[in-house]
Amino acid sequence: MHDTHFHEFLRRQIPVMVGLSLGPGLAYIFLGWLHDSAVPAVGWYLVMLATSVWGIRLYRSFDAATMSETRREQWYAQCTWLVYVFFALWALIFLIYVRLDTYKFHYIAIFTEIGASVVASSLLASDKRLFRPTILVLMIPLIVYFMLVGAWYAYVLAVFSTILTWVLLYAARSTNSLLMQTRHQATHDALSGLYNRQYFIEHLQRRMNSLNESGEHGYLLLVDLDHFKTVNDTLGHDVGDRLLQSVAERLLGSAPDRCIVARLGGDEFIVTGGRFAQRDACEAEALETARRTLVALKTPYTVGAHQLHISASIGVSLLGPGDSNATRFIKEADIAMYEAKARGRDGAFVFDEEIARRVEGNLDIERMLHFALPHGEITLHYQPQVDRAGRIIGAEALARWTSPALGAVPPSRFVPIAEQTGLIIQLGQHILETAFRTLDDWHRAGLALKQFSVNISMRQFTHPGFAAQVEELVRRHLDPVLVRTLMFEITETVVAEDIEGVIRTMQRLKTLGIRFSMDDFGTGYSSLSHLNRLPLDELKVDRAFVLALGNDDGDRAMVATILNMAKLLGLNTVAEGVETAAQHAFLMRHGCGMFQGYFHAKPLTKTAFELFIQDHATARDAI
Ligand code: C2E
Ligand code: MG
Ligand code: MG
Repeated sequence: MHDTHFHEFLRRQIPVMVGLSLGPGLAYIFLGWLHDSAVPAVGWYLVMLATSVWGIRLYRSFDAATMSETRREQWYAQCTWLVYVFFALWALIFLIYVRLDTYKFHYIAIFTEIGASVVASSLLASDKRLFRPTILVLMIPLIVYFMLVGAWYAYVLAVFSTILTWVLLYAARSTNSLLMQTRHQATHDALSGLYNRQYFIEHLQRRMNSLNESGEHGYLLLVDLDHFKTVNDTLGHDVGDRLLQSVAERLLGSAPDRCIVARLGGDEFIVTGGRFAQRDACEAEALETARRTLVALKTPYTVGAHQLHISASIGVSLLGPGDSNATRFIKEADIAMYEAKARGRDGAFVFDEEIARRVEGNLDIERMLHFALPHGEITLHYQPQVDRAGRIIGAEALARWTSPALGAVPPSRFVPIAEQTGLIIQLGQHILETAFRTLDDWHRAGLALKQFSVNISMRQFTHPGFAAQVEELVRRHLDPVLVRTLMFEITETVVAEDIEGVIRTMQRLKTLGIRFSMDDFGTGYSSLSHLNRLPLDELKVDRAFVLALGNDDGDRAMVATILNMAKLLGLNTVAEGVETAAQHAFLMRHGCGMFQGYFHAKPLTKTAFELFIQDHATARDAI
């Protein structure tokens, strides 16, 4: 029973023990004095006093919050000895005084002995290792004494004492199991049977204290199930609960011995363990545990009639001497877990200084982003899109942010942050409005494009007011002919959301004439059936694929397959990030419809785009 709670419980009994022994102790001195002289009683009293001082010191040296596990174990061992010594002294006093007849001393000895046993059975109920020997040490001498008296009534008393011993043991045992049960409920999660959050936090703090003391390293894995919400939403909470129970079992199975496995809440679990002199060894075991856990969790589950598949993302944080803040440590694992999710889920990531810096940087971005819109710091650049004949027929609007404090911040940094903080709604509105104004300006200036692409983030797209917002902006800025050139670029992540809702929004906007493109195709995990259900018009082959064209035949085959598939689905194709003539030639050969990349032009400011297009007179002829 290595639990602070019980140690705390035992600690509270120390003053009671001390008080009880010092009080009756004085009575013994008085009786000793009446008997012949108080000298031996005073001697005893001093021994009791010394033990009490020891007890008080133990009482005061206990501090659950700062004590390491090892020190707490040592403290507990000393406490055990204290209890043994205390009650052994009582037993000895009994043996000595029970032989004295003056003033019916033996009666008093018998009563105190029984009293001490009753007290011990209730005081020490928290620990079997304490109450059992103590009750026996106190009661057996009493029983033996009665047997030795030799009179019939004494035999009867011996029998009574035996029964009393049994009753005391029984009472202590029931109290003990009740305490254990209550403690179990307070420290465990009812659904999974694992430790709960509260227990885990206490445990972690103690663990950090002890690693600090020993100079060793330990680790913590924060396990979060991927897309668990979908299971709950589609199959119901009963199935979700049973899945969580199976997950808990597998976590226990894949964690090394002496690890603590806890459920933090929802679909978040913690595994913590390790005592390593070297950080490297610690990291190796942490990663090995993470790998085993990922494999174990991925094996299909059978819940009722359902066959379920689920993966997890694991954030690993390593703690060593010098770390003392448990909450920060969990936060680090949390950051690492989000990184694992961001890297495509079903994986583990170890927290390091680099992500720490990035998270810090993200906070700066988050703070500054609030001022970026009102201060007019967010503008748009436009990257030309070129058709198979080399004519500029379209443009993609790309957000640019130049912050006075942070310099130029790329959209790949600030768009996700705007999504997380909800600022994407205003930001998206601003981008749409700026883009529509440009489109309208160009139209008035006679610069006509067949297609004008705007990126729409997932959070923005799935926001309930999105379609209405677009309708309003279109009404204010664009004439119906221009709306038909609009192409909204969405990414595969929208598919992870409520697909029916996504399709509804798309259809509503399509009635205005807006078309849709699947951006960064091939980097997400949408299935072909999803792709087929969305009313798409265009597919953008992700830059990564274009970049990989130089690698090997496999990558080339991949691009060719994507282009073919798009053709079969009746989708137009745009290749992004075309940088070289060789890439362009390959894509041309495989029937790619449009090209966008540094090979033709980088994203340009509004004026630069206008100049650029003037230089391409051919392009205008064609439109
Ligand atoms: P995206 O929509 O896939 O945009 C293409 C990105 O590739 C742009 O990066 C563009 O500058 C870059 N690019 C184009 N050609 C080449 C090339 O030949 N080589 C290389 N190395 N890069 C090329 P950018 O502007 O940094 O935007 C990054 C991402 O940020 C975009 O990817 C898009 O997902 C997002 N984003 C940009 N603007 C917006 C916006 O207005 N709204 C939303 N929601 N997201 C935006
Ligand atoms: Mg795009
Ligand atoms: Mg893209």
